[in-house]
Amino acid sequence: MIYLDNSATTKPYPEVLQVHQQVSERFFGNPSSLHQLGIDASRLLSETRKQILHYTGFTQYEIIFTSGATEANNIAIKGAALAKMNRGRHIVTTAIEHPSVIESFEQLKTLFGFDISYIQVNEHGRADMTHLKEVLRPDTVLVSLMHVNNETGVIQPIEEASSIIRKYAKEAIFHVDGVQGIGKVPLPKEMDIDLLTMSGHKIHGLKGTGALFLKKEIILAPFITGGEQELGLRSGTENPAGAVSLAKAIKQSFEYLNKHHDEMIALKTELEQQLGKIEGVVINTPLTHSAPHIVNFSVPGIQIEVLLHMLEKEGIYVSTTSACSAKKKEPSRVLLAMGKSEEAAKSSMRISLTYGQGPELAPQIITSIAQSVKKLKGMR
Ligand code: PMP
Repeated sequence: MIYLDNSATTKPYPEVLQVHQQVSERFFGNPSSLHQLGIDASRLLSETRKQILHYTGFTQYEIIFTSGATEANNIAIKGAALAKMNRGRHIVTTAIEHPSVIESFEQLKTLFGFDISYIQVNEHGRADMTHLKEVLRPDTVLVSLMHVNNETGVIQPIEEASSIIRKYAKEAIFHVDGVQGIGKVPLPKEMDIDLLTMSGHKIHGLKGTGALFLKKEIILAPFITGGEQELGLRSGTENPAGAVSLAKAIKQSFEYLNKHHDEMIALKTELEQQLGKIEGVVINTPLTHSAPHIVNFSVPGIQIEVLLHMLEKEGIYVSTTSACSAKKKEPSRVLLAMGKSEEAAKSSMRISLTYGQGPELAPQIITSIAQSVKKLKGMR
């Protein structure tokens, strides 16, 4: 099997599974309980928070454990906008964000009358910083920009965006969806981001684990209320085993990135170059400003799910668009925003890599895709 759908999800590291089981058995107390079992679980959680902040280098942040990035994005975006709504109701994002961001924005518009500006992206999918500058207003209270796009792998100019926001929108909170970047594309060391979200299962952690990193001075309106856990922003009994497994996944992924970055880039580059030579294939991932693990291409005129299943028969697992949109069978919103044709947006495929996959895999992947595309084109 060659698993090339790592942006949809990854296989948990054995160490992650092991530590999850150990913590579940040994620290089963409720961290809110006053007896020793509760105290032990609570201490473990605090330790784990410190570890994650240390591994990631996000030492100026607090951490809120969540069930994943969808929840973290919802807490961050709605929480920030609602906390600031007496200062303004203008919010800014791009049309190529994950649905958990776009839908949160649209809900703020429908339910609370927020005004949304979608900043344009260029033909490579990079957000237009001149347009960002133009749309910012004194009543802009939130800007949300993803670090790495989940369909194309394009890296957004986070540093530039943050300096523009700080200069032109003093009230605005800056949120970054960091899901596809964490463990793959380091963020700037001195990053000026208020809220950052991540997901465990994209970095060989467990599904149902994730986090929101929150700058200490940022205030969010809580809307998952109850027992006041996680700074009062995500009530509900904490999940120490999930938290420890997340810390393990982060630590290991950061180490693996150092070790395997170059071979991942070598495979990605080889795939992009060789796929580009196949008749009928159009590469959508730009060569520069893109993450080391994603290659997106289209084969206009074919039914892309058929190609997916042909590759599956050969033991190669890929995605059409992103996992979240695949079942909707709609053209890729991301590719349309980049100005690609409807045909290209309907026929896109994503290959997403992980650590330990190197250029030696390229010939088999290329041959399988080339032969399958040829067959499909011949059948038309
Ligand atoms: N943001 C991005 C960019 C993603 O790729 C994903 C996962 N597809 C999410 C958010 C949601 O993450 P989760 O599956 O943890 O809810």
